[in-house]
Order: sequence, then structure tokens, then C-alpha cells
Amino acid sequence: SPSLKEENESRILVFVRVRPLAKNETEAGSRCCVRVVDRRDVFLTEFASEKDYLRLKRLRGRHFAFDASFPDSATQQEVYSTTTSELVEAVLQGRNGSVFCYGATGAGKTYTMLGTVESPGVMVLAIKDLFSKIRMRSCDGNHAVHLSYLEVYNETVRDLLSPGRPLVLREDKQGTVAAGLTQYRAYSTEEVMILLQQGNHNRTTEPTRANETSSRSHAILQVVVEYRVKDAGMNIINKMGKLSLIDLAGSERALATDQRTIRSLEGANINRSLLALSSCINALVEGKKHIPYRNSKLTQLLKDSLGGTCNTVMIANISPSNLSFGETQNTLHWADRAKEI
Ligand code: ADP
Ligand code: MG
Repeated sequence: SPSLKEENESRILVFVRVRPLAKNETEAGSRCCVRVVDRRDVFLTEFASEKDYLRLKRLRGRHFAFDASFPDSATQQEVYSTTTSELVEAVLQGRNGSVFCYGATGAGKTYTMLGTVESPGVMVLAIKDLFSKIRMRSCDGNHAVHLSYLEVYNETVRDLLSPGRPLVLREDKQGTVAAGLTQYRAYSTEEVMILLQQGNHNRTTEPTRANETSSRSHAILQVVVEYRVKDAGMNIINKMGKLSLIDLAGSERALATDQRTIRSLEGANINRSLLALSSCINALVEGKKHIPYRNSKLTQLLKDSLGGTCNTVMIANISPSNLSFGETQNTLHWADRAKEI
């Protein structure tokens, strides 16, 4: 199984998850162009025509290697255990970490992160696991778990647990904080699922599609664990670890904006957060000293959870349909680059 980095080593683990073909993709005559090999790598096939089912002809294929890849049969629990459970353990040792879901709209990011009531995703399984690990560790109520759930939309930060005015980011000695953000003290997993589903409903929707979460919205769940330990001299020391779980905006916009000259302010801004994240990851990959966290709200918020001694996990979500070949290829290329650390 992929291992986390040593105390001072920088490493990003990269995973790929393929979702099942959707009904509308099947009805449109989709072919599957993605194959997971040995639970590890992805083989992407390009067909001669993306549209004409009868004339589909294999053109060429390309092999991508990752820390692990999940076929459409993978369960939420498998995805959680392989990608995130070690980060939860690290948080209990006072180390920060972050898990990102990246990919085009409809590729399965929200399903992977949040999931459904019947099949809870990484966010909920991480909190469940956290509580069970805390229970095994201590029975004296030594650990306090606080959750905050926020959105970055159009470079505006909003509290998803208590919607209202945009929040202002401030620098303090612990890093960047969103002033007035709800810190919800959580005691059990059951309440958390409901809380997160409600929070997800508070995400910004497109005016034209009132029930659908905007593909430009980034959702960030931050789980902070505070606890006390005694040092050799029996002094009590307060420690904390933070895990950030991020359901990123659809990556297709960022890729599209790159090529077009004129775009709406909104488009440019979504681009800003995603591009800023890309630049930070690139800088980390290249071992640069200066990481450009200040370029967007998203990266400012994640400054203490990305790079340094933090564990970073990327889960690239893709559709298996040849109708999404272009987006899938872009996602795999991006994931492939993030891995080169
Ligand atoms: P995104 O957040 O990337 O836009 P969603 O997570 O909303 O995409 O997924 C799009 C649709 O596909 C949803 O209806 C979702 O329930 C479904 N889906 C995604 N991944 C899976 C999966 N692994 N198994 C079953 N259904 C999935
Ligand atoms: Mg989504």
C-alpha cells in the first residue's frame, strides 16, 4: 500500500477513481475508454470517432501509472481506506493533511467526497474513523473535534454551516483564518452526515439551474483535532492536527478559460483558484522554496495543509465514457504531473 512521507519529506499521493457509466451515457451509445490495470494504473483508449458508435475504431492507447486506481466497482470504504485513513492517523499525531477531489463536472467528485446517506463518502468515513480512533486512544475526553465547512465561489468565501455574508480572510499566528467561521464541535458521526448534507445544499447554484450545485464552487471541510499530551517533565502541552477535505470546482472550466481571451469575471475567478492550486502543486513538485499560496482564496485557506510536512492526496475522478475522452485525458495528464514529486 502507498506510504506517507517521512517527517520532512515532501510527497503527494495521486489516485484515480473511475465512476460507472451513467444511464444517459449508455443511451448515447457510449463506449468505455478507460480500463484499470491491476488496481493501480489506468489505460486510456482513444477511438477514431467520439460520436459515431458504429465506426468506432481504436486509434491508440496510453498507460498512466498512479499510487492506486479504483475501477467503477470500488466501494466508498475501499476508496477511503486506501487514500485517506493514514491521514486521519497522522492528524491524531498533530500533523496536517489535505485530500482533494479533482476532475470535470459529473466525474464523481461530490460522490467521492460527500457521497449519499446510503453510501457515505470520504468526508463522513474520515470523521467516523476519527471518532473510533479517538475512542480507542483515550476515554478521558482528551480530544476535541471541530468542523468547519466552507465554500470558495467566485473568490468569495462563505460559511456552509451558517450561510450569510461572505467571510473575510485574516492572517493570524496560526495561519489564514476566515473571520467568524462556524467551528462546530462534533461528538458523533450520525450528526455529521446530516450537517454535511445540509451544508452541501447551501453551496452556490447557477441561477439557471436552481437545484444543481455550481460547477464553479469549491467546498472545503476542515476537521481540527485538539488534544493534550504530557512531555518528559510532565508539563501539559496542547497539540492539534488539521485535515482538509476538498471537493474542487469542475476542472473543465479552468482548462477552457486558458484558451479563450474573453471570459466572464466569474470564469476568470474560478480559474484563479484552480490555477493557483496548480501552481502551488507545481512549485511543490519542483521543490521550490517559494510556494505561491497568496494567489487565491483557496490556496490561502490551505496554506497550513499543503506542502511542508503535510500529507497531500489527490483523487482524480473520471468518467469511463468515450464521450468524455478529452476531459478524462486532461484530468489524467494533470494527475500524472502532480505525482512527479
Ligand atoms: P461531480 O461532483 O464531479 O460533478 P457527482 O459526484 O455529482 O460529480 O457525480 C455525477 C453523478 O454520478 C451523480 O449522480 C453521482 O451520484 C453519480 N456517481 C458518481 N460516482 C459514482 C460512483 N462511484 N458510483 C455510483 N454513482 C456515482
Ligand atoms: Mg459536485
